[in-house]
Amino acid sequence: MKSNWSDADARAAIEEWSAAGEDVALRVYTSRLIGAEADLVLHGGGNTSVKTTFLDPLGTAIPAIHVKGSGWDLATIEPAGLPGMDLEALRRLRALDALSDEAMVNQQRIRLFDAGAPTPSVETLLHSFLPAKFIDHSHADAILALTNRPDGEMIVADLFGPSCPRVPYVMPGFALAKFAAAVAEEATNSGNTPIGLVLLKHGLFTWGETARESYERHVELVDRAERWLASSRRRSIRIEITADPAAAEAIAALVAPILRGRLAEATTDTDRPFRRFVLDRRATPEILEIVNAAELTEITDSNPLTPDHTIRTKPRPLLIAPPAERTAAGWTEAISSAVEQFAVQYRTYVAAGIDARGPKKPLDAVPRVVLIPGRGLFAVGASRKEARIAGDIAEHTLRTKRLSWETGAVYEALPDVDLFDLEYWSLEQAKLGKGAEKPLARQVAAITGAAGAIGRAIAAKLLEAGAHVALLDLDLAAADSLRAQLAAKFGGAVVEAIACDVTDEASTVAAFDEVCRRFGGVDLAVPNAGIARSAPLAQLSTEEFRRVMEVNATGVFLTIREAAARMRLQGTGGNIVVISSKNVMAPGAEFGAYSASKAAAAQLAKVAALELAKEGIRVNSIAPDAIFATGETPSGLWAAVGPDRAKARGMAPEDLPDFYRRRSLLQVPLTGEHIGNAVVFFASNLTPTTGATLPVDGGLAEGFPR
Ligand code: ZN
Repeated sequence: MKSNWSDADARAAIEEWSAAGEDVALRVYTSRLIGAEADLVLHGGGNTSVKTTFLDPLGTAIPAIHVKGSGWDLATIEPAGLPGMDLEALRRLRALDALSDEAMVNQQRIRLFDAGAPTPSVETLLHSFLPAKFIDHSHADAILALTNRPDGEMIVADLFGPSCPRVPYVMPGFALAKFAAAVAEEATNSGNTPIGLVLLKHGLFTWGETARESYERHVELVDRAERWLASSRRRSIRIEITADPAAAEAIAALVAPILRGRLAEATTDTDRPFRRFVLDRRATPEILEIVNAAELTEITDSNPLTPDHTIRTKPRPLLIAPPAERTAAGWTEAISSAVEQFAVQYRTYVAAGIDARGPKKPLDAVPRVVLIPGRGLFAVGASRKEARIAGDIAEHTLRTKRLSWETGAVYEALPDVDLFDLEYWSLEQAKLGKGAEKPLARQVAAITGAAGAIGRAIAAKLLEAGAHVALLDLDLAAADSLRAQLAAKFGGAVVEAIACDVTDEASTVAAFDEVCRRFGGVDLAVPNAGIARSAPLAQLSTEEFRRVMEVNATGVFLTIREAAARMRLQGTGGNIVVISSKNVMAPGAEFGAYSASKAAAAQLAKVAALELAKEGIRVNSIAPDAIFATGETPSGLWAAVGPDRAKARGMAPEDLPDFYRRRSLLQVPLTGEHIGNAVVFFASNLTPTTGATLPVDGGLAEGFPR
C-alpha cells in the first residue's frame, strides 16, 4: 500500500470546503483517501476525526471534535458527514466507571453543535479520549490477517514496535474508549511516543498532528503488514475442481433460483407468503480458485475477520457441496438440506448468545454468503445492494483468510459470543436502517420490450415500488441507455439490461438464465414486447401476419413459459402480467394481425392462470388503449402504424392522440405510467386475483371485459 497524498489535491480540498475550515477540509480529503482503499475499509466501515475550534454564535471559541457520522462512507464523505461536538464535555465522561450505549449516544447527540447532524460514530469517545489532532481508524485486511492468529500479537509487536501498542479485543463503546486511551497513555508515560494502536481482531488506529502525518502513518503500518504477509507465504492451495466456465455459467443459472427459493422464509400472510432475498453472484478467477480448492472448508468455515462484519455476513458462510446428481431435483435436495442445517446452527448460536447475554429477539436464520464449488459465491441480501455489501466483505474475507492460511497460520477468530454481541447490538442494527419496506421490495421483475414507451414506464414504476428490474429488449443498446437513466435515479444495483428476442426460443431462455445469474431469480414477468401492422386483411401479407403473431403471441408464450419455469424452481409463487390490448374486446378494422395476436396472448394468459395457480403464480392482463409516448420516448408501435391508422380514420397522424382521448368515457390522456401503476397493483398481491383483465383505457364501453 502506498500513500496517495497530493499537495495539489490537499490545496484543492481546502479551497472546496473552505466554509468548513482548513482542519475539517483536510479531514475530508484524507478520509476520502482511506475510503478509496477497499483493503482498508468497506461500505461505511472505519472512521476518522479531527480536533479543532468551534466559534459559537457569541463568538466564543470552543474546543471541538469532528467525527465521522453514521450513514456516511469515508470514500464519499463531506464536511456534513463529520459532525462537530464539544470536546471537553465528551472528555469529562472519562471519569465515569461505566456508561450504557444509549446514554453514550445521548451524550454524543447533546454535545453536537448542529442539532440536525447525523449521530457520530460509536467510536467517538475513543477519538475524544486520545490527545492527537488527527486520528484515522480502519479495519485493514492485513491487520486482521495478522491479528486473527495465535501468534498475532507477537508478530505485530515485532513488526510495529513499542510506538504502536496492542489492545486486546473489547467490544466498541465506552469501555473500549477508556481502555484504549489508557493503553496509549501508558506508552506515552513509559517514553514510547505512540503513533497508533493495533486493536486485535478489530483494526488499526493511527494519529498525527497533521492530516497527512496520521494518514501516512496508517498507510505505512498497513504496508508493513502487507509486506510481511506476502513474504511469509509457505504453502499453496490445491485446486480440486477444474470446471469448464461455460458449464459453470449454465449451472449457475439453474442453481440460483433453487437457492433463492430455499432461502425465502415462509410467512403467515396468505397474499405475501414468502419473505424473499435477492442474490448477487460472483465467480471471479480468485473466488473460483478458493471455492474449488481442496482446503475450501479449512480456509473459509470460520468466524469473520472482525465481529462487525457479522451484521452483513452472519457468523459463517454456507458451504454447499454439489450433489452427485446434477439435476434440478439433485440440487434442490442438496441446497434444502444445507440451508436447513445452516438455520439450525444459527439458532444454536443465538440460543447460546441469549444464554450468555440475556434475551434478544432472534434475527432471520438465513445465510448471507453461500459458497458452492465450481459455481462461485452467492451473496444474499434483502436487496441487491445489501447482497453486494455482503459480497464485497465476503470477497475480502476469502482473500484474507486464504493469505493467512498460506503463511502457515492457524486462523483464530473471536468466539461466537463476541459476534453475538455485535450482531445483536442495537447500535449495529441501527446501521441497517430498518424501516417499512416498499410494496415490491425483495422482488425481481423482468419486462420484455422494456426500452419501448410502455416498457420504460413500467420499469420506472416497478423500481419506485422497490422491485429489482431486468430490462429485456431486442435492442440491447436502447435497453442499456435506459438502464443508465434508471440507475442514475434508483442506483445501479437494482436495474440490469439484457438482450432478448422474444420470438427466438434460445434467446428467451438465455435471457431468463441471465436474469437468474444477475439477481438470483424472477418473481414478476411482464410480457410487454409488441408490434403492429395496419392493413386490411386483403392487403396483409402472410409474412407480415406471421411476424406480428411471432412477437405478440409466440413471444408472450415463450416469456410466460420461461418465467414460470424459473418461478417453479424457486417455489415461491410469483406474478405474470401480460400487456394485452383493448383490441381483444374491441377489435379494429385494418388491425387484424394485431387484434388476433393480442387475443391469442390474452387467451394464453388465462390458460396460464389455470395452470399456474397451484404454484402460487398469478397471471393477469392489462388492456390499454393507445399509448403514444412516455416522456420523450414515442411509442415505436404507434410510429409504425400511426400514419396508416390515421388514414383509415381520415385524419392527420398528429390528431390521433386527441381522437383516442375523446372517444373514452373519462376523456383523459393515457400514459405509460398508468400501465406501470396497474402492473404494480397486480404484482403487490393486494387482491386474490388471477385470470383477470384490467382495462386501462379511460373507459370504453365496447372494451368492457366480458
Ligand atoms: Zn472499528
